[in-house]
Amino acid sequence: MSTQKHAFQAEVAQLLHLVTHSLYSNKEIFLRELVSNASDACDKLRFEALADPSLYGEQPALEIRIAIDKDARTLTVTDTGIGMSEAEAVAHLGTIAKSGTREFMGKLSGDQKADAQLIGQFGVGFYSGFIVADRITVESRRAGLPPEAGVRWVSTGAGDFEVEAITRAERGTSVILHLREDALDFADGWRIRELIGKYSDHIALPIKMEGEQWEDGQEEGQPGRMVKTGEWETVNQATALWARPRKDITDEQYVQFYEQTAHDWQPPLAWTHNRVEGSTEYTQLLYIPSHAPMDLWERERKAGVKLYVRRVFIMDDAEQLLPRYLRFVKGVVDSADLPLNVSRELLQESRDVKAIREGNTRRVLGLLEDLAKAEPAEAPPAEGGDDKAAAPRDKYAAFWREFGAVLKEGLGEDHANRERIAKLLRYASTTTDTPTVSLADYKARMKEGQKAIYYITADTLAAARNSPQIEIFRKKDIEVLLMTDRVDEWALSHLREFDGTPLQSVAKGAVDLGDLQDEAEKKAAEEAAEHVKPLLDRLRAALRDQVEDVRVTTRLVDSPACLVVKDGGMSTQLARLLKQAGQPVPDTRPVLEINPEHALVRKLADSPRFDDLAHILYDQALLAEGGLPEDPAGYVRRVNALLV
Ligand code: ADP
Ligand code: MG
Repeated sequence: MSTQKHAFQAEVAQLLHLVTHSLYSNKEIFLRELVSNASDACDKLRFEALADPSLYGEQPALEIRIAIDKDARTLTVTDTGIGMSEAEAVAHLGTIAKSGTREFMGKLSGDQKADAQLIGQFGVGFYSGFIVADRITVESRRAGLPPEAGVRWVSTGAGDFEVEAITRAERGTSVILHLREDALDFADGWRIRELIGKYSDHIALPIKMEGEQWEDGQEEGQPGRMVKTGEWETVNQATALWARPRKDITDEQYVQFYEQTAHDWQPPLAWTHNRVEGSTEYTQLLYIPSHAPMDLWERERKAGVKLYVRRVFIMDDAEQLLPRYLRFVKGVVDSADLPLNVSRELLQESRDVKAIREGNTRRVLGLLEDLAKAEPAEAPPAEGGDDKAAAPRDKYAAFWREFGAVLKEGLGEDHANRERIAKLLRYASTTTDTPTVSLADYKARMKEGQKAIYYITADTLAAARNSPQIEIFRKKDIEVLLMTDRVDEWALSHLREFDGTPLQSVAKGAVDLGDLQDEAEKKAAEEAAEHVKPLLDRLRAALRDQVEDVRVTTRLVDSPACLVVKDGGMSTQLARLLKQAGQPVPDTRPVLEINPEHALVRKLADSPRFDDLAHILYDQALLAEGGLPEDPAGYVRRVNALLV
């Protein structure tokens, strides 16, 4: 039998260093991680055995056993789950496959509490064993392989590990921690029971420990001690929480269950738990997390809802159970109707799944509506250090801050619920920098004669707020919603109106303030337009490669010019984003609108440098909305020529 040495993947070595050096004051989390791996391993076996029941062999029970050997100073976590072959042990316990790991490294802050949460989120759980162990031995045998195909993996957590073939009678895995001197308090049965109660009570598998009892010293004066009784006792609740009636479950138990299933150690914002009866029967326990995971925007991101069928775990990331725009939701769905051998393909076609998905969507939207109702209108921002759970009244603001941009995708994705989603939207506006303005709030404040809900999209709040396009709105004290999420423009293209009032981008089309403009203003504008006609022609000629048209506007107050796109056209901001992302962009040119009252515009007509000034006007309008001149050096040259 030969032993083979393997080096850890560089990232693992780095991670190990961080784990052991940054988590020493939060040691106990290792147990939670190892139990969660053991539980995952049992779930995997259960799932594979649906197709091949012989995998259970002569050991049908799925369970976790924790054993302590005080003399050897070891703590062993054993499971009867799927196990690992030698190749799997090398691959899974020597590398980090997850793409987010590099990001994880960057996020480590040195704040132990925050870092401990990250460890769980990134699934680097196994290595947390090295917080308390100076050596870890893993012995395993994969389900379906013979006893001689066992593997032993040993490492001190420094640079490399060794593997050798062993004979192992039992299927599954034992993780043996050789406890460090300063972690010997974990070699105590009561301490471990306490930690299981804290972290792993609702693992839906029995976690067993050997019973202990007190034995007096044999002779006078000799101290007594705890001895093992030889009986294995289940030390956790081991029931599926969601299957119990709501009234029997405390808030603490709900939170704890969330932490275990979602691998998120920050309490959730809210949850909803229901047994749904009728033509499709299922139980849903769905949570809204209090903070966004780092991979929320990754396209490959896994969905957060686990699917069970009659308490049997089927799959982890059942994306069919909720629409994509609710991908932040975590939790469990347990169906009474689906077959146990349901595949992903089958899920896609199942009518039951469709009903569950619709039911889940309604519940989550209802939950969000409740949170929004509890919120004071125009809540003050809940910013800064928020490791405290959000106060009940700040919950919707917290939700919106973390997930609002995702929810907006629903406008385009879920037409059936578009109105409900529209009511949940919140934006910053010219009246407030915090995104707290609902469309209903806006409507309630609309001016006499105002016929549209006005909004502007920009890269940043400052750019939106200072955009030339909204000058006239500011002057007339008309509120404009300021939108700065990438998704806004696309999302709004699916929401043409709210409650009978059209939504109108102030950067699209000619501005028509309708009844908000008085007769005198309209007349003055017409006269000005007549007056500058020759100037417009000259500008059109000078800028024919840059713009679609040049026209006069009344929307500008302090700025000489701005760019707008034709009604229904793609905004220059979106076009820029797409271009940055390497996407094809339709070749549409903007319209240059000029302010005939502005001194610069007046000067233009008689200037000997007409061509240069025209280009400066255009480039500055581009700059004002966050764009860049096509020829930055040319721009600088022209401006400098003017300066000297
Ligand atoms: P994660 O659990 O998020 O995948 P871990 O670092 O906790 O990350 O575990 C790494 C991998 O090691 C697991 O994905 C799994 O393949 C393997 N593994 C760990 N513990 C066990 C176990 N008890 N039984 C089988 N495989 C395991
Ligand atoms: Mg894990």
